[in-house]
Amino acid sequence: TRTLAYLKPAFRTYATAASPHALVYLEHSAGAIDSASLSALTAAQKLGGQVTGLLVGSAEEVKEVLPKAQKLKGLNDVLHASSPQYAHPLPETVSPLFEKILSSGSPYTHVVSAHSSAAKSILPRVAAKLDVPAVSDITSLEHDSSSNSTTFTRPIYAGNAIATVRAPSSVPVKFFTVRSTAFAAAPSDGADVEAKPLEAVEVASSPTEHIKTELTKSDRPELGSASRIVSGGRALKDAETFKKTLEPLADVLGAAIGASRAAVDAGYADNSLQVGQTGKVVAPELYVALGISGAIQHLAGMKDSKLIVAVNKDPDAPIFQVADAGLVADLYEVVPELVEKLKAQ
Ligand code: FAD
Repeated sequence: TRTLAYLKPAFRTYATAASPHALVYLEHSAGAIDSASLSALTAAQKLGGQVTGLLVGSAEEVKEVLPKAQKLKGLNDVLHASSPQYAHPLPETVSPLFEKILSSGSPYTHVVSAHSSAAKSILPRVAAKLDVPAVSDITSLEHDSSSNSTTFTRPIYAGNAIATVRAPSSVPVKFFTVRSTAFAAAPSDGADVEAKPLEAVEVASSPTEHIKTELTKSDRPELGSASRIVSGGRALKDAETFKKTLEPLADVLGAAIGASRAAVDAGYADNSLQVGQTGKVVAPELYVALGISGAIQHLAGMKDSKLIVAVNKDPDAPIFQVADAGLVADLYEVVPELVEKLKAQ
């Protein structure tokens, strides 16, 4: 309509865009690009067009991470913006930068990110400003250039059903976040691509400010990207027993430690270790579930693991329905024996 055309002049440019051009938000921490963003980059490549990375951070962070971003395979170029305001990517401070990038004349047809806590807030916020929908937590995608529509699948009802949704050509910029376990991480052995600096968009008075970040320190592999995970549930009784029982097995397997929500809520394990619908979604090569019943909310976070091993006293525990190897036994007898046998190998 006339009103829309007046309010959103940029859309006339987008609607005629022929081949896709994705803008991928590259999140980073401790000088490295997050592996979930590398999976988002792989997903963006499946659109079949150009892919531009977007790196945002303090000047020091950008200086350290930019050379790594330029080497990512699958990127055509990298935009980068630095400001003290971007040291902690609050949606309130980063969103205006996205809006500027996507303003009139922008070549981008898709905006892509990991399904991370920050991006889950940034992307829908920017999409709302542009008056377009955002699709979250996608596990596959297909772009049809002739109709300029993109079709996605995404798990719903804690992974018990898969919804297929389509962003048609009437959606000029298609926003989506990516479930990292569904896409391999893009490799970082590409040729250096061009880095294009952008001016930061300073927010005069942000309604939120970053106060502090408390990181859990651990020598173990990071839960979200570990290839092996040993997870414990309510059966682990208390924090001390949880640690004493799981750590020797995790050590011998070189595994990360995970937990069910019951174990986290009871204070046996840190919040950051929770696996499931309201915790982390993981898909390691090996997932060992000890004293975990297998509630659907837990399965939602681990059922895509390649090999699931479960130990539970109850032969009817639902975890056995997804387990590749199941042992109906008392974990306090089985786990020490398993540790000894693995050590002897
Ligand atoms: P239980 O269900 O109590 O199971 C304990 C198991 O240990 C039992 O199967 C028992 O047979 C076995 N056991 C006991 N003793 C032994 C022993 N000595 N040896 C071997 N086996 C033994 N849960 C999550 O995990 N992650 C989530 O993200 C999550 N999100 C949720 C979101 C919502 C909205 C809701 C409503 C729930 C959510 N839950 C989540 C909770 C979920 O429904 C279950 O309550 C929880 O997963 C149960 O944890 P559990 O299996 O450790 O405990």
